[in-house]
Amino acid sequence: MKSQDYINLEDELGAHNYKPLDVVLNRGEGIWVWDVEGNKYMDCLAAYSAVNQGHCHPKIMGTMIEQAQILTLTSRAFRNDQLGLLYKELCELTNSHKVLPMNSGAEAVETVIKAVRKWGYQVKGVPKDKAEIIVCENNFHGRTIAIVGFSTDEASRDGFGPFSPGFKIIPYGDADALKAAITPNTVAFMAEPIQGEAGVIIPPAGYLKKARAICTENDVVLILDEIQTGLGRTGKLLAEEHDGIEADLTLIGKALSGGFYPVSAVLSNREVMDVLRPGEHGSTFGGNPLACAIARTALKVLVEENMIENAAAMGDYFLSSLSQIQTPHIKDVRGKGLMLAVELTPDAGGARNYCEALMARGLLCKETHENTIRFAPPLVITKDEIDWALDRIEAVLKSGQK
Ligand SMILES: *Cc1c(COP(=O)(O)O)cnc(C)c1O
Repeated sequence: MKSQDYINLEDELGAHNYKPLDVVLNRGEGIWVWDVEGNKYMDCLAAYSAVNQGHCHPKIMGTMIEQAQILTLTSRAFRNDQLGLLYKELCELTNSHKVLPMNSGAEAVETVIKAVRKWGYQVKGVPKDKAEIIVCENNFHGRTIAIVGFSTDEASRDGFGPFSPGFKIIPYGDADALKAAITPNTVAFMAEPIQGEAGVIIPPAGYLKKARAICTENDVVLILDEIQTGLGRTGKLLAEEHDGIEADLTLIGKALSGGFYPVSAVLSNREVMDVLRPGEHGSTFGGNPLACAIARTALKVLVEENMIENAAAMGDYFLSSLSQIQTPHIKDVRGKGLMLAVELTPDAGGARNYCEALMARGLLCKETHENTIRFAPPLVITKDEIDWALDRIEAVLKSGQK
């Protein structure tokens, strides 16, 4: 079968809830992927940062194969010999006190919504069903009904109501707005350290530090969604480290499995998690031994193979090189670590066209919204490989794509 045959099958038989680039991949290794015709591409999306460790990392693969031959799923009705070890290693690495494992990122978000509401009623003394959670404009926290209910992106929420009440939306990056929005019923403030899906939006310096202080003063739980920014992407293990703060609840997912398996987790630095009692929350696959074994190795290679340091160094180089590209089509270049974006001018011809032109030159990346191209390769990328990418990016940006 050729690429077009696979595309036809998908278009005919699948729901059209995505608009992928028309490249049909069947192999990956490190930062590289190959299509069914054998063409090679550099992956500058890394599955939305789920493949930080690079495609098919041999050590993670080894663990997956090994564990799959021993034990895959017990359910949490019984215990397994991997879960406790993942807890221990995650807590040591992230300086957390408690962990709750789930599968997808959205489930981790749902988990914290439940936990902070319950904490609000049981610990803070908020009247029944009055708990408020403050979130930010242009947030992205996943796709469940509760989550899209507090999205400000029309495509994400239009037609899916009615939605869950109890969420208040404030501008991102505005600490005064947070202060003003807090009431005695506020249980939590949830934000992304950098808004990924919104187009790599970096808040003003000091924002998270101020948010941390405001939450502490008002007995409000600070939740940082690090599902995309976490696990080395921004050049630190967690993006909160750039601001020298610790959230009360931190969400991780995506790269927690290095792209091998859906694994997410809620990390708790405060005793919020203790309000959840047996029977109140769970997931059949959450915390299964296969997921835990994979996550343990995915974390191990991230640290042992210096991927976080590499993300910081290569990210600085990538950003400064992108910033030097001279073309009237660029409005802004921004990023932290290997989470980078080029925002095009409104009349440049649309980010999608640039992504297609880059694909034709062997580089895969994806537009976010109309005019922003995100570059987020696996964290194992080298300087020579970034130079290779820059040659293509510069050529495409300079030529324009109208
Ligand atoms: C991807 C993402 C999610 C959702 O994760 P899924 O695994 O797709 O459910 C939530 N928050 C952020 C910041 C993300 O980038």
